[in-house]
Amino acid sequence: MSEERLNGILVTNIQRMCFHDGPGIRTVVFLKGCTIHCPWCSNPENLSYNIEKYEKDGNTSYYGRYYTEPELHDELLKDRLFWINDGGITFSGGEPLSHIPTIKNLLKSLKTEGIDLAVETSLFVDENMIDVSLCFFDHFIVDIKILDEQICNRVLGGDCSLYKRNVKRVVDSGKDLVFRIPCNNEYTLTDKNSRSIIEFLKQYRDIPVQIFAIHDLGAEKYRSLGIEMWRHEKVKEKSLLDFKDELTMNGISTEIIKL
Ligand code: SF4
Repeated sequence: MSEERLNGILVTNIQRMCFHDGPGIRTVVFLKGCTIHCPWCSNPENLSYNIEKYEKDGNTSYYGRYYTEPELHDELLKDRLFWINDGGITFSGGEPLSHIPTIKNLLKSLKTEGIDLAVETSLFVDENMIDVSLCFFDHFIVDIKILDEQICNRVLGGDCSLYKRNVKRVVDSGKDLVFRIPCNNEYTLTDKNSRSIIEFLKQYRDIPVQIFAIHDLGAEKYRSLGIEMWRHEKVKEKSLLDFKDELTMNGISTEIIKL
């Protein structure tokens, strides 16, 4: 049995009063561990499935701590008064759906209490995790990254055909869904990949799309972990606007967001 299964749910952060991670005001819980590795990841502390030590200002700290299920349940429920209208809890990461075995009971109890649940996911997980997640989550925020099988595998370490099957599964479920595209010049906004994204999205025209330029906000965390951060050229506002126009011209409802 893994360390996580024995110790509980591995969380790096609980962020309160969030507005971009599902409807209404949300509490976002970040689970530690991801199934892929995007070069542009702004949460490097969420890549590993283990607690990580780091030094800051001469002090030792740790990324990640284990919560028992009741402990995390009570911690999250402290925000209940803020979830007026359609707010609730969003699970993020890392890849939250890879944590389904350890969070399944928590999701079940939150759902029983009528809490609105969203998930931010890349969908690079086994199909049975998708099936379980469809029982609990009300909203899916799904990334679209690299759609070429070989480049996806080489750069992200992900299985693109599994991803596409999972997207279809979530779409077919009829759940509330938004696609999110992290834009960078090197991989996601290349001519070939942006054409592939548009072709891919033509089959899902009813689903709204959000695009955003990747940022360097994770720089301090990379430093603290002693990992070199990926160097990239900043995406120009005009490239984002052009991409938005192309998507829109193809009947895909698109907005530019800032994260
Ligand atoms: S899926 Fe998200 S958390 Fe995982 S590596 Fe990519 S950007 Fe980072």
